[in-house]
Amino acid sequence: MISKPVPLYSAPLRKRCPVCGFTSYSAEGIHPQCAAEQADAERLAEYKRAPKPVKPKSTSGLHAWQRLCRKCKAVVHVRKTICQCGHILTATKRDSGGP
Ligand SMILES: [Zn+2]
Ligand SMILES: [Zn+2]
Repeated sequence: MISKPVPLYSAPLRKRCPVCGFTSYSAEGIHPQCAAEQADAERLAEYKRAPKPVKPKSTSGLHAWQRLCRKCKAVVHVRKTICQCGHILTATKRDSGGP
């Protein structure tokens, strides 16, 4: 009686899914759902890498309702006429052009 020949390639090394670490039987060695997850993670990483619009600090660009005291360089509200340092804030440019 002749026993069955041992196949040259025994059970192929089962690949491990690089995502979840569990054995995968698929040809790619990765679970389809894990592959999708990985692709999703890459997309997410790409999204995170993208530069976010940063709000400009009020140090240089003043808001419309803010003005800078010429004396102490403090940011003062436009409605205020006197700065915290005591400097009297001049009227808005709109008014300085009159006769
Ligand atoms: Zn997996
Ligand atoms: Zn001031």
